[in-house]
Amino acid sequence: LAERLQGTISKIKGKGKVTEQDVKEMMREVRFALIEADVNLKVVKSFIKRVSERAIGQDVMKSLTPGQQVIKIVKDELTELMGGEQSPIKFSQKPPTVILMVGLQGAGKTTTTGKLANVLRKKYNRKPLLVAADIYRPAAIKQLQTLGDQLSLPVFALGTEVSPVDIVRQALEHAKEEHHDVVLIDTAGRLHIDENLMQELKDIRALREPDEVFLVVDSMTGQDAVNVANSFNEAVGITGVVLTKLDGDTRGGAALSIRSVTEKPIKFVGMGEKMDALEPFHPERMASRILGMGDMMSLIEKAQANVDEEKAREMEEKFRTQSFTFDDFLDQMSQVKKMGPLDEILKMLPGANKIKGLENAKIDDKQIGHIEAIILSMTPAEKTNPEIINSSRKKRIAKGSGCSVQEINRLLKQFEDMKKMMKQMTGMTQKGKKKMKLP
Ligand code: GDP
Ligand code: MG
Repeated sequence: LAERLQGTISKIKGKGKVTEQDVKEMMREVRFALIEADVNLKVVKSFIKRVSERAIGQDVMKSLTPGQQVIKIVKDELTELMGGEQSPIKFSQKPPTVILMVGLQGAGKTTTTGKLANVLRKKYNRKPLLVAADIYRPAAIKQLQTLGDQLSLPVFALGTEVSPVDIVRQALEHAKEEHHDVVLIDTAGRLHIDENLMQELKDIRALREPDEVFLVVDSMTGQDAVNVANSFNEAVGITGVVLTKLDGDTRGGAALSIRSVTEKPIKFVGMGEKMDALEPFHPERMASRILGMGDMMSLIEKAQANVDEEKAREMEEKFRTQSFTFDDFLDQMSQVKKMGPLDEILKMLPGANKIKGLENAKIDDKQIGHIEAIILSMTPAEKTNPEIINSSRKKRIAKGSGCSVQEINRLLKQFEDMKKMMKQMTGMTQKGKKKMKLP
């Protein structure tokens, strides 16, 4: 997913102008990327719709950096899709807090039970009890006991002959006696959704309402993750999701779908087999990771600070291409009244504060009328190539505009200064861009 999106992003990143067509194209890529990553189709559709609506909005099109704005919208919506905020563990007011781990076989329940116990002890200063309620495979009990030994945490197990419900009942009593404030119940899994398993989980649930029911999902599961999440949620009622094996070659689609389909938060992610490889799930960071744009954040923030500076952007383009003419100058004149002084506008460009002689670009409001008249008296050739304006042409222009030759000379000088400055500034801008990793 990341690679695919990144390709699209680098295409759109540098765009000074983004048309509706561009947005459509980008959305097609995003849609494709999401589908390829096994994101649920319904989720993809509503996602694309939301992003498109926002991206085609006026604010974006008129912004200084529409490409970046579109990316920001994609990122915001991705974050939203994955729950927005980080969702913490819910602890019981009356200890012990009971956490039931459910999920398919091989999803990572047992491993995650150990990791979570480790987090609870280290980060939350709790005294967890691990409960081995997977009686169908002797190895499962042994696996949890091994993790318990490794972590120096107690594991409550009664072998394979006692029913899971009875194990949990006794474990809860034991927890009370031993003052465990969190009870983590590792349950059995099946290869597929199974009625007997669901019934067993319901029976455990009925003993004592768990504070959390964590569905453990293998992030490599893809499309099926949504069905699994839905089935468990309907049958047992989950309160959160732990997404495992994110350290692997996962396509990440599960993370995107599960939350939006079940409306249950992803609380943790498994990042490896070791006992310290469990991290809280941060939707925003996950979205950044998917988009691979850690160092783009500051640029996005910058882009936000500059919303309707369309004119400044156009000007920067002219600077870059060195194609600034007297027509542009004139155009600028009429903008000056609306936008404020030219030197202020220039200051918004990167690197402009370092330029000497910027104050000379200041144009007195009172002069604007005269300047307009002078430029309007020029021929198209003169406007594009002011070098050709010799003294006879100056006299003609002076007559036409009702201004003195001195005023014309002053304007020509100003224009030349400005062009020189642009040249200087364009160089700086390019260097500055390289530094800032801009396209
Ligand atoms: P269970 O059947 O749901 O209890 O699954 P297990 O906890 O036994 O895990 C199945 C396999 O997945 C084991 O080999 C674990 O080491 C591995 N595993 C679990 N979580 C992760 C993870 O976050 N990353 C990686 N790389 N492997 C994991
Ligand atoms: Mg297990």
